[in-house]
Amino acid sequence: MYKVLESVRGKRKVLVVEDEMINREILGNMLKGEYEVVYAENGQQAVDILHMDYDTISLVLLDLMMPVMGGEEVLRLCRSDNNLSQIPVIVMTQDEDAEVSIIRAGADDFIKKPYNMPEVVLARCERIIDLYEKKRLIDSAEIDPLTGLYSGEFFFEYIKQMEKYSDIKMDAIAMDIEHFHLVNEIYGRSEGDRILKRIGSMIMAELGDSYGIACRVSADTFYIYHQGSGNYGKLAEKILTDIAAVSFEKAKIRLRIGINKNVDRNDPPEQWFDHAKLACDELRGDYTRQMAYYDSVTHDKLLYHERLIRDIDTSIANKDFAVYYQPKYNIEGDEPVLQSAEALIRWNHPEFGMISPGDFIPLFEGNGLVQKLDRFVWEEVASQIAKWKEQFKATVPVSVNVSRIDIFDPELENRLLGMLDKYGITTNEVLLEITESAYSDSANRLIEVVNNLRDKGFRIEMDDFGSGYSSLNMLTTIPIDVLKMDMKFVRNMLNDDKSLKLCELVMDISRFLGVPVVAEGVEEKAQLDKLKDMGCQIIQGYYFSKPLPAEQFEELLAK
Ligand code: C2E
Ligand code: MG
Ligand code: MG
Repeated sequence: MYKVLESVRGKRKVLVVEDEMINREILGNMLKGEYEVVYAENGQQAVDILHMDYDTISLVLLDLMMPVMGGEEVLRLCRSDNNLSQIPVIVMTQDEDAEVSIIRAGADDFIKKPYNMPEVVLARCERIIDLYEKKRLIDSAEIDPLTGLYSGEFFFEYIKQMEKYSDIKMDAIAMDIEHFHLVNEIYGRSEGDRILKRIGSMIMAELGDSYGIACRVSADTFYIYHQGSGNYGKLAEKILTDIAAVSFEKAKIRLRIGINKNVDRNDPPEQWFDHAKLACDELRGDYTRQMAYYDSVTHDKLLYHERLIRDIDTSIANKDFAVYYQPKYNIEGDEPVLQSAEALIRWNHPEFGMISPGDFIPLFEGNGLVQKLDRFVWEEVASQIAKWKEQFKATVPVSVNVSRIDIFDPELENRLLGMLDKYGITTNEVLLEITESAYSDSANRLIEVVNNLRDKGFRIEMDDFGSGYSSLNMLTTIPIDVLKMDMKFVRNMLNDDKSLKLCELVMDISRFLGVPVVAEGVEEKAQLDKLKDMGCQIIQGYYFSKPLPAEQFEELLAK
C-alpha cells in the first residue's frame, strides 16, 4: 500500500525549519535527491507553511534555537492541532542530553548536529515517514467514517484481541433497519446517512464504559459485542425515539435485533455474529416483534428456508411442483354431486421429498416469490381444464388460490385473462380463492381489484372465512360469490359448542349475503350431516377425498 501511495504522489515534501542558511543548504543538498524540500527560517514561518500545506507535507525537520518562534513552541502547536499532529517531526539538536525532553515534547526522533552522516539523516527521515503513513492507512481503515464505529474487518480483529484477556460472558448482537433502501429512495441518501450516523452515536453512548465494541458491518447493519445482560430492547426503543425526534417525523423506521446470547467461545467470532444475524433476519416482515434470540432451532429453520428460496426456480423448471385437485361436492340433494375442485400446489423436492404448502407458501408470501408459484399453478390449471374439456366434452370449475401479494400486481387482471385466452377457457371455469386476512390487510385496494375481476366475469371465493379479520360492517361492502368456512370451526364443531355456534353464525352471514358456503376440512360423516342440517351446500374434505394428482382426479371426472 505504501508503494501505491508513493507512485500516486511522487516525491514527498519535507519542510526544513532552520534559521542558519548554511545548515539549510547542507540539509537541502542531502535531501533533494529523494524529497521535494521547502524551507522556513523561523518557527512562525514554519507554522504558517504548515497551516497552508499540512496535507502535502510528509515530514518536518525542526531546529530548536530560532528567532521569532523557537522549535519547542512549534512542536507544541503541532501536537495540539488536529491536522498538524498527523505530520511527523524530527528535531535537530547539538545537545545530546536533550534527547529525552525532546521526545517527551512530542518529537518523533532527533538528528544530531552537525550533519556529517548524510546516510543516517536520510535513513531516519525515510523510517519516520514510512511509519506515519502506515499508521494513517490503518487508522482510516479501522473506523467507519460515517458512524465513527469500527469497520467490519477491524471489529473482528479487536474481538480476537479482547478474547485474549477476558473470559466474561459476552453477547453478539446484530441490528439492522427494515427496508433501509426505501429510506434512501424516499427521503434521500443524506437523510439515510443522518439516521445511520445517529444510530452509530447512540450505540457508542450505550457502550460507554462497559466492556464491548461495535461496528457498522454493511450499509445498514450494525454488530455489537457486549458484556452480557444488556437490555437491548430498551436500546432499540431509545434509538427509535431519538431518530423520530431528529428526523422531523420523516422516516419511520423499524429496527430488527438478533441476539446470540452468551457466545460459545469454541466457535470463531465471525460465527457468533452470523448467528445473531440469522436471528435478526428471522424478524424480516414480522411486525409483532423487534427482537429475536438465536438458538439451534432458528438456525436449522433459516438454513432450510434459504435452501427453499434458492431452489424455487430450478424446481419450477424441473416440474418438481405439481398441482393437486381436491373435489368439492354439492350435498343439497340426496346424493352428493361432484361440483368443482380446488387446485392445491405440491412440492416434491428432489432432496426433502414432499413439502407441505403450509411450510413454503407463507415463506414465499413474505418475499414475493409466491407470485411465481401462483402463475405456475394458474397456467397448469388452465391447460388441464382445456385438456379435460377436449377429452370429456365437459368439465368442472376449478378454484385457484390468489395470494395477497398477487393483489398488488397491476397486471393481475391481464395475466388471468391472457391465460384463459391462451387455453380457450372462460371465467366460468376458473374461480379465484382469496383468503379473508387479505381483505383486512388492504381493504380498499382489495375491494377495487375484486370489483374489477368480477366485472370481467370472475367469481370470487373468500377463503378461510371466520378466521376473524373482517368486521361485519366490512363484510356487507365486500363483493364476493362464495364463503369458504374456516377449517378450524368444522374440526371442532362436534365437541366444542363455541365452534358449532360459529358454524351457525357463518351460515347466517352467508344467507344475509345471499352466497353459498363451502365447508372445508370435513373428515367425518357426522360433520357432514350436521353441516347439511344447517343448510351448508358444498363440502370439501378428506371425507370425500384428499387432494389428488391430475390423473387420479381425472378418474373421478370420468365417472
Ligand atoms: P387452503 O386454500 O385453505 O386449502 C385447504 C387446505 O386444507 C389444503 O391444505 C387441503 O389439503 C387441506 N384439507 C382439505 N381437506 C382437509 C381435511 O379434511 N382435513 C385436513 N386436515 N385438511 C384438509 P394444503 O394443500 O396443505 O394447503 C395449505 C394452504 O396453502 C392452502 O389453504 C392455501 O392457503 C395455501 N396454498 C396451497 N396451494 C396454493 C397455491 O397454489 N397458491 C397459494 N397462494 N396458496 C396455496
Ligand atoms: Mg384455498
Ligand atoms: Mg381454506
